[in-house]
Amino acid sequence: MEAPKRTRPLKGEALYQKMVEEVEDYAILLLSKQGDIDNWNKGAEKIKGYRAEEIIGKNFRLFYTEKDVQNQKPESLLKIAETTGKAAEEGWRVRKDGSTFWGSILITALHDEEGGVIGFTKVTRDLTERKLAEDQLRQYTKQLERQNKELEQFAYIASHDLQEPLRTVSGFLELLKKNYQNQLDANAQQYITYVVEASNRMQDLIKGLLDFSRLGRVQEFETVDCQQLIAEVIGDLQSSIQEANANIQVGSLPALSAYRLELKLLFQNLISNAIKFRKKEVPPQIAIKAKAKEGGWEFTVSDNGIGIDPKFFNKIFVIFQRLNSRREYPGTGIGLAHCKKIVALHEGEIWLSSKPNEGSTFHIFLPDKHL
Ligand code: ADP
Repeated sequence: MEAPKRTRPLKGEALYQKMVEEVEDYAILLLSKQGDIDNWNKGAEKIKGYRAEEIIGKNFRLFYTEKDVQNQKPESLLKIAETTGKAAEEGWRVRKDGSTFWGSILITALHDEEGGVIGFTKVTRDLTERKLAEDQLRQYTKQLERQNKELEQFAYIASHDLQEPLRTVSGFLELLKKNYQNQLDANAQQYITYVVEASNRMQDLIKGLLDFSRLGRVQEFETVDCQQLIAEVIGDLQSSIQEANANIQVGSLPALSAYRLELKLLFQNLISNAIKFRKKEVPPQIAIKAKAKEGGWEFTVSDNGIGIDPKFFNKIFVIFQRLNSRREYPGTGIGLAHCKKIVALHEGEIWLSSKPNEGSTFHIFLPDKHL
Protein backbone atom coordinates (compact mmCIF):
# COMPACT_ATOMS: atom_id res chain seq x y z
CA MET A 1 0.00 0.00 0.00
CA GLU A 2 1.19 3.48 -0.86
CA ALA A 3 2.15 5.55 2.11
CA PRO A 4 0.03 8.69 2.53
CA LYS A 5 1.72 11.79 1.07
CA ARG A 6 3.19 13.93 3.75
CA THR A 7 3.02 17.63 3.10
CA ARG A 8 5.15 19.98 5.04
CA PRO A 9 2.98 22.12 7.32
CA LEU A 10 2.95 25.79 6.31
CA LYS A 11 4.50 28.18 8.74
CA GLY A 12 4.87 31.89 9.35
CA GLU A 13 4.37 34.19 6.38
CA ALA A 14 3.42 31.39 3.99
CA LEU A 15 0.66 30.22 6.29
CA TYR A 16 -0.59 33.73 6.67
CA GLN A 17 -0.59 34.29 2.92
CA LYS A 18 -2.44 31.02 2.35
CA MET A 19 -5.06 32.03 4.89
CA VAL A 20 -5.74 35.31 3.08
CA GLU A 21 -5.73 33.65 -0.34
CA GLU A 22 -8.34 31.08 0.63
CA VAL A 23 -10.89 33.46 2.15
CA GLU A 24 -13.87 33.44 -0.20
CA ASP A 25 -16.33 35.88 1.27
CA TYR A 26 -14.02 38.87 1.47
CA ALA A 27 -11.86 40.39 -1.21
CA ILE A 28 -8.57 41.04 0.59
CA LEU A 29 -5.98 43.00 -1.39
CA LEU A 30 -2.68 44.69 -0.85
CA LEU A 31 -2.35 48.04 -2.57
CA SER A 32 0.79 50.03 -3.18
CA LYS A 33 0.91 53.60 -1.96
CA GLN A 34 -0.48 54.67 -5.35
CA GLY A 35 -3.29 52.13 -5.26
CA ASP A 36 -1.75 49.51 -7.57
CA ILE A 37 -2.87 45.98 -6.80
CA ASP A 38 -0.12 43.78 -5.32
CA ASN A 39 -2.05 40.64 -4.45
CA TRP A 40 -5.40 38.99 -5.03
CA ASN A 41 -7.34 36.31 -3.12
CA LYS A 42 -10.21 33.91 -3.90
CA GLY A 43 -12.77 36.27 -2.44
CA ALA A 44 -11.59 39.07 -4.73
CA GLU A 45 -11.93 36.79 -7.75
CA LYS A 46 -15.40 35.71 -6.63
CA ILE A 47 -16.63 39.22 -5.97
CA LYS A 48 -14.97 41.16 -8.78
CA GLY A 49 -14.57 38.49 -11.46
CA TYR A 50 -10.85 39.03 -12.36
CA ARG A 51 -8.23 36.34 -12.03
CA ALA A 52 -4.98 37.24 -10.24
CA GLU A 53 -2.87 37.31 -13.40
CA GLU A 54 -5.17 39.79 -15.17
CA ILE A 55 -5.38 42.27 -12.34
CA ILE A 56 -2.16 42.35 -10.35
CA GLY A 57 -0.27 45.52 -11.20
CA LYS A 58 -3.41 47.44 -12.27
CA ASN A 59 -4.77 50.34 -10.26
CA PHE A 60 -7.71 49.72 -7.95
CA ARG A 61 -9.52 52.65 -9.66
CA LEU A 62 -10.76 49.99 -12.05
CA PHE A 63 -13.39 48.91 -9.52
CA TYR A 64 -15.00 52.34 -9.31
CA THR A 65 -17.83 53.72 -11.42
CA GLU A 66 -17.02 56.35 -14.02
CA LYS A 67 -18.58 59.02 -11.88
CA ASP A 68 -16.57 58.00 -8.80
CA VAL A 69 -13.37 58.03 -10.88
CA GLN A 70 -14.22 61.52 -12.18
CA ASN A 71 -14.79 62.65 -8.62
CA GLN A 72 -11.47 61.09 -7.60
CA LYS A 73 -13.12 58.95 -4.96
CA PRO A 74 -10.41 56.22 -5.03
CA GLU A 75 -7.67 58.80 -4.49
CA SER A 76 -9.56 60.56 -1.70
CA LEU A 77 -10.20 57.26 0.11
CA LEU A 78 -6.46 56.52 0.04
CA LYS A 79 -5.80 60.03 1.29
CA ILE A 80 -8.19 59.52 4.23
CA ALA A 81 -6.58 56.16 5.03
CA GLU A 82 -3.17 57.73 4.84
CA THR A 83 -4.02 60.56 7.22
CA THR A 84 -6.38 58.84 9.66
CA GLY A 85 -5.19 55.25 9.42
CA LYS A 86 -8.30 53.92 7.70
CA ALA A 87 -11.17 54.73 5.38
CA ALA A 88 -14.52 52.91 5.45
CA GLU A 89 -17.18 53.25 2.80
CA GLU A 90 -20.19 51.58 1.24
CA GLY A 91 -21.01 52.13 -2.40
CA TRP A 92 -21.54 50.72 -5.88
CA ARG A 93 -18.48 49.10 -7.45
CA VAL A 94 -17.87 47.63 -10.89
CA ARG A 95 -17.10 43.97 -11.68
CA LYS A 96 -15.03 42.75 -14.61
CA ASP A 97 -18.16 42.14 -16.70
CA GLY A 98 -19.33 45.73 -16.10
CA SER A 99 -22.08 44.77 -13.66
CA THR A 100 -22.16 46.53 -10.31
CA PHE A 101 -22.24 45.27 -6.74
CA TRP A 102 -22.77 47.08 -3.43
CA GLY A 103 -19.46 46.89 -1.60
CA SER A 104 -18.61 47.52 2.01
CA ILE A 105 -14.98 48.60 1.94
CA LEU A 106 -12.33 49.11 4.56
CA ILE A 107 -8.94 50.47 3.53
CA THR A 108 -6.23 50.36 6.19
CA ALA A 109 -2.84 52.05 5.87
CA LEU A 110 0.30 49.92 6.31
CA HIS A 111 3.31 51.58 7.90
CA ASP A 112 7.04 50.94 7.94
CA GLU A 113 9.06 51.03 11.11
CA GLU A 114 9.44 54.80 10.93
CA GLY A 115 5.70 55.22 10.66
CA GLY A 116 5.69 56.11 6.96
CA VAL A 117 2.85 54.71 4.83
CA ILE A 118 4.07 51.95 2.53
CA GLY A 119 0.76 50.75 1.15
CA PHE A 120 -2.75 49.67 2.11
CA THR A 121 -4.86 46.61 2.77
CA LYS A 122 -8.30 46.71 1.29
CA VAL A 123 -11.07 44.42 2.48
CA THR A 124 -14.29 44.37 0.49
CA ARG A 125 -17.56 42.57 1.17
CA ASP A 126 -20.35 42.16 -1.36
CA LEU A 127 -23.52 43.39 0.37
CA THR A 128 -25.63 43.74 -2.77
CA GLU A 129 -28.44 41.51 -1.48
CA ARG A 130 -28.73 43.41 1.77
CA LYS A 131 -28.63 46.74 -0.06
CA LEU A 132 -31.35 45.70 -2.51
CA ALA A 133 -33.55 44.39 0.32
CA GLU A 134 -33.07 47.66 2.21
CA ASP A 135 -33.83 49.73 -0.88
CA GLN A 136 -36.97 47.73 -1.53
CA LEU A 137 -38.10 48.14 2.06
CA ARG A 138 -37.47 51.88 1.86
CA GLN A 139 -39.43 52.05 -1.36
CA TYR A 140 -42.37 50.12 0.16
CA THR A 141 -42.35 52.39 3.18
CA LYS A 142 -42.38 55.50 0.99
CA GLN A 143 -45.17 54.07 -1.12
CA LEU A 144 -47.18 53.19 1.98
CA GLU A 145 -46.65 56.64 3.45
CA ARG A 146 -47.77 58.25 0.22
CA GLN A 147 -50.86 56.05 -0.05
CA ASN A 148 -51.68 56.71 3.58
CA LYS A 149 -51.44 60.46 3.01
CA GLU A 150 -53.64 60.21 -0.08
CA LEU A 151 -56.19 58.22 1.87
CA GLU A 152 -56.22 60.76 4.67
CA GLN A 153 -56.54 63.53 2.14
CA PHE A 154 -59.42 61.70 0.52
CA ALA A 155 -61.18 61.15 3.85
CA TYR A 156 -60.69 64.82 4.67
CA ILE A 157 -62.01 66.14 1.36
CA ALA A 158 -64.87 63.66 1.20
CA SER A 159 -66.07 64.36 4.73
CA HIS A 160 -65.60 68.08 4.29
CA ASP A 161 -67.55 68.18 1.03
CA LEU A 162 -70.29 65.83 2.28
CA GLN A 163 -71.19 68.31 4.98
CA GLU A 164 -72.55 70.82 2.51
CA PRO A 165 -75.32 68.74 0.81
CA LEU A 166 -76.20 67.29 4.19
CA ARG A 167 -76.74 70.76 5.58
CA THR A 168 -79.09 71.45 2.68
CA VAL A 169 -81.07 68.26 3.42
CA SER A 170 -81.37 69.11 7.13
CA GLY A 171 -82.28 72.75 6.36
CA PHE A 172 -85.09 71.87 3.98
CA LEU A 173 -86.39 69.18 6.33
CA GLU A 174 -86.67 71.83 9.04
CA LEU A 175 -88.54 74.08 6.62
CA LEU A 176 -90.84 71.23 5.61
CA LYS A 177 -91.62 70.52 9.24
CA LYS A 178 -92.17 74.15 10.08
CA ASN A 179 -94.24 75.25 7.08
CA TYR A 180 -96.23 72.13 6.27
CA GLN A 181 -96.77 70.66 9.72
CA ASN A 182 -100.55 71.03 9.53
CA GLN A 183 -100.91 69.66 6.04
CA LEU A 184 -99.11 66.38 6.79
CA ASP A 185 -100.70 63.35 8.40
CA ALA A 186 -99.14 61.55 11.38
CA ASN A 187 -97.35 59.04 9.15
CA ALA A 188 -95.67 61.71 7.05
CA GLN A 189 -94.59 63.52 10.21
CA GLN A 190 -93.13 60.32 11.60
CA TYR A 191 -91.16 59.78 8.39
CA ILE A 192 -89.78 63.31 8.63
CA THR A 193 -88.65 62.61 12.19
CA TYR A 194 -86.79 59.50 10.99
CA VAL A 195 -85.10 61.44 8.21
CA VAL A 196 -84.09 64.21 10.65
CA GLU A 197 -82.65 61.61 13.04
CA ALA A 198 -80.78 59.89 10.24
CA SER A 199 -79.34 63.13 8.92
CA ASN A 200 -78.25 64.17 12.42
CA ARG A 201 -76.55 60.85 12.79
CA MET A 202 -74.87 61.24 9.43
CA GLN A 203 -73.68 64.65 10.53
CA ASP A 204 -72.09 63.05 13.62
CA LEU A 205 -70.43 60.39 11.49
CA ILE A 206 -69.08 62.90 9.00
CA LYS A 207 -67.81 65.12 11.79
CA GLY A 208 -66.10 62.09 13.33
CA LEU A 209 -64.49 61.25 10.00
CA LEU A 210 -63.36 64.82 9.53
CA ASP A 211 -61.84 64.90 13.03
CA PHE A 212 -60.19 61.55 12.35
CA SER A 213 -58.50 62.78 9.18
CA ARG A 214 -57.45 66.00 10.90
CA LEU A 215 -55.74 64.14 13.77
CA GLY A 216 -52.03 64.69 13.80
CA ARG A 217 -52.06 67.28 11.00
CA VAL A 218 -50.45 70.26 12.65
CA GLN A 219 -49.00 69.67 16.03
CA GLU A 220 -45.84 69.67 18.03
CA PHE A 221 -44.64 67.55 20.87
CA GLU A 222 -44.78 69.25 24.22
CA THR A 223 -44.30 68.20 27.81
CA VAL A 224 -47.66 67.06 29.07
CA ASP A 225 -48.38 66.62 32.75
CA CYS A 226 -50.76 63.67 32.59
CA GLN A 227 -51.99 64.22 36.15
CA GLN A 228 -53.23 67.63 35.16
CA LEU A 229 -54.51 66.42 31.79
CA ILE A 230 -56.67 63.73 33.39
CA ALA A 231 -57.99 66.24 35.93
CA GLU A 232 -59.08 68.41 33.00
CA VAL A 233 -60.75 65.47 31.24
CA ILE A 234 -62.60 64.53 34.42
CA GLY A 235 -63.68 68.16 34.78
CA ASP A 236 -65.02 68.19 31.21
CA LEU A 237 -66.95 64.94 31.81
CA GLN A 238 -68.42 66.09 35.13
CA SER A 239 -72.06 66.00 34.08
CA SER A 240 -71.96 62.42 32.72
CA ILE A 241 -69.87 61.34 35.75
CA GLN A 242 -72.53 62.65 38.09
CA GLU A 243 -75.39 61.31 36.03
CA ALA A 244 -73.88 57.81 36.10
CA ASN A 245 -72.76 58.16 39.72
CA ALA A 246 -69.28 57.12 38.60
CA ASN A 247 -66.31 56.84 40.91
CA ILE A 248 -62.96 57.58 39.28
CA GLN A 249 -59.65 56.73 40.97
CA VAL A 250 -56.57 58.34 39.53
CA GLY A 251 -53.11 56.98 40.38
CA SER A 252 -49.87 58.88 40.17
CA LEU A 253 -49.30 59.83 36.53
CA PRO A 254 -46.11 60.99 34.82
CA ALA A 255 -45.29 63.95 32.63
CA LEU A 256 -44.23 63.01 29.16
CA SER A 257 -43.55 64.49 25.78
CA ALA A 258 -46.65 64.12 23.63
CA TYR A 259 -49.23 65.81 21.42
CA ARG A 260 -51.31 67.43 24.14
CA LEU A 261 -54.67 67.81 22.41
CA GLU A 262 -54.55 64.33 20.94
CA LEU A 263 -53.58 62.77 24.27
CA LYS A 264 -56.51 64.55 25.90
CA LEU A 265 -58.87 63.20 23.27
CA LEU A 266 -57.47 59.70 23.83
CA PHE A 267 -58.23 59.71 27.56
CA GLN A 268 -61.52 61.49 26.99
CA ASN A 269 -62.65 58.70 24.67
CA LEU A 270 -61.51 55.92 27.00
CA ILE A 271 -63.00 57.45 30.14
CA SER A 272 -66.31 58.32 28.50
CA ASN A 273 -66.53 54.77 27.14
CA ALA A 274 -65.82 53.44 30.65
CA ILE A 275 -68.75 55.52 31.90
CA LYS A 276 -71.04 54.78 28.97
CA PHE A 277 -70.62 50.99 28.78
CA ARG A 278 -71.59 50.46 32.42
CA LYS A 279 -73.81 47.74 33.78
CA LYS A 280 -77.33 48.80 34.60
CA GLU A 281 -77.78 49.40 38.32
CA VAL A 282 -74.03 49.20 39.02
CA PRO A 283 -72.25 52.54 39.46
CA PRO A 284 -69.09 52.68 37.35
CA GLN A 285 -65.78 52.16 39.19
CA ILE A 286 -63.04 53.49 36.99
CA ALA A 287 -59.28 53.49 37.63
CA ILE A 288 -56.61 55.34 35.69
CA LYS A 289 -53.04 54.30 36.39
CA ALA A 290 -49.55 54.48 34.92
CA LYS A 291 -46.55 52.20 35.32
CA ALA A 292 -43.00 52.84 34.12
CA LYS A 293 -42.01 50.28 31.50
CA GLU A 294 -38.84 49.82 29.50
CA GLY A 295 -38.68 52.75 27.07
CA GLY A 296 -41.87 54.44 28.21
CA TRP A 297 -45.08 54.31 30.24
CA GLU A 298 -48.00 51.95 30.31
CA PHE A 299 -51.28 53.63 31.17
CA THR A 300 -54.40 51.68 32.04
CA VAL A 301 -58.03 52.75 32.10
CA SER A 302 -60.16 50.06 33.77
CA ASP A 303 -63.86 49.80 34.42
CA ASN A 304 -66.38 47.39 35.93
CA GLY A 305 -68.74 47.70 32.99
CA ILE A 306 -70.35 45.31 30.53
CA GLY A 307 -66.99 44.01 29.23
CA ILE A 308 -66.09 42.86 25.74
CA ASP A 309 -65.92 39.38 24.28
CA PRO A 310 -62.24 38.70 23.31
CA LYS A 311 -63.34 37.79 19.78
CA PHE A 312 -64.18 41.48 19.23
CA PHE A 313 -60.91 42.89 20.60
CA ASN A 314 -59.68 43.84 17.11
CA LYS A 315 -63.00 44.83 15.63
CA ILE A 316 -63.72 47.60 18.12
CA PHE A 317 -60.69 49.62 16.96
CA VAL A 318 -62.00 49.73 13.39
CA ILE A 319 -63.75 52.97 12.45
CA PHE A 320 -67.57 52.86 12.78
CA GLN A 321 -67.56 49.37 14.34
CA ARG A 322 -69.78 48.96 17.39
CA LEU A 323 -71.00 46.00 19.39
CA ASN A 324 -74.13 47.36 21.05
CA SER A 325 -77.40 48.81 19.88
CA ARG A 326 -77.48 52.55 19.41
CA ARG A 327 -80.64 52.77 21.46
CA GLU A 328 -78.96 51.28 24.53
CA TYR A 329 -75.55 52.86 24.09
CA PRO A 330 -75.42 55.87 21.75
CA GLY A 331 -72.29 56.53 19.72
CA THR A 332 -70.73 56.52 16.27
CA GLY A 333 -68.05 53.87 16.69
CA ILE A 334 -65.25 56.29 15.99
CA GLY A 335 -63.77 56.85 19.46
CA LEU A 336 -61.46 53.84 19.58
CA ALA A 337 -60.37 54.38 15.96
CA HIS A 338 -59.30 57.84 17.12
CA CYS A 339 -57.47 56.32 20.09
CA LYS A 340 -55.63 53.89 17.86
CA LYS A 341 -54.52 56.64 15.49
CA ILE A 342 -53.41 58.87 18.37
CA VAL A 343 -51.35 56.08 19.92
CA ALA A 344 -49.81 55.33 16.50
CA LEU A 345 -48.88 59.03 16.15
CA HIS A 346 -46.92 58.61 19.38
CA GLU A 347 -45.39 55.36 18.10
CA GLY A 348 -47.06 53.56 21.00
CA GLU A 349 -49.48 50.68 21.34
CA ILE A 350 -53.03 50.19 22.55
CA TRP A 351 -54.64 46.88 23.55
CA LEU A 352 -57.17 45.62 26.03
CA SER A 353 -58.04 42.88 28.46
CA SER A 354 -61.66 42.28 29.30
CA LYS A 355 -64.20 39.77 30.53
CA PRO A 356 -67.80 40.05 29.43
CA ASN A 357 -69.96 41.20 32.30
CA GLU A 358 -66.99 41.94 34.56
CA GLY A 359 -65.25 44.92 33.03
CA SER A 360 -62.51 46.04 30.67
CA THR A 361 -59.02 47.45 30.93
CA PHE A 362 -57.54 49.45 28.07
CA HIS A 363 -53.73 49.52 28.07
CA ILE A 364 -51.74 52.23 26.35
CA PHE A 365 -47.99 52.15 25.96
CA LEU A 366 -46.44 55.53 25.19
CA PRO A 367 -42.69 55.70 24.56
CA ASP A 368 -40.80 58.44 26.35
CA LYS A 369 -38.00 58.57 23.81
CA HIS A 370 -39.06 62.06 22.75
CA LEU A 371 -38.45 63.50 26.20
P1 ADP B 1 -68.62 54.32 20.43
O1 ADP B 1 -68.29 54.54 21.87
O2 ADP B 1 -69.02 55.56 19.72
O3 ADP B 1 -69.56 53.19 20.19
P2 ADP B 1 -65.87 53.42 20.17
O4 ADP B 1 -65.05 53.33 18.93
O5 ADP B 1 -65.41 54.27 21.27
O6 ADP B 1 -67.30 53.89 19.66
O7 ADP B 1 -66.10 51.95 20.72
C1 ADP B 1 -66.40 50.89 19.83
C2 ADP B 1 -67.14 49.81 20.56
O8 ADP B 1 -66.30 49.16 21.48
C3 ADP B 1 -68.30 50.32 21.39
O9 ADP B 1 -69.46 50.49 20.59
C4 ADP B 1 -68.46 49.20 22.41
O10 ADP B 1 -69.19 48.14 21.86
C5 ADP B 1 -67.03 48.75 22.64
N1 ADP B 1 -66.43 49.39 23.84
C6 ADP B 1 -65.57 50.42 23.86
N2 ADP B 1 -65.21 50.73 25.12
C7 ADP B 1 -65.82 49.85 25.92
C8 ADP B 1 -65.86 49.62 27.35
N3 ADP B 1 -65.14 50.37 28.18
N4 ADP B 1 -66.63 48.60 27.80
C9 ADP B 1 -67.35 47.84 26.95
N5 ADP B 1 -67.37 48.00 25.61
C10 ADP B 1 -66.61 48.99 25.10
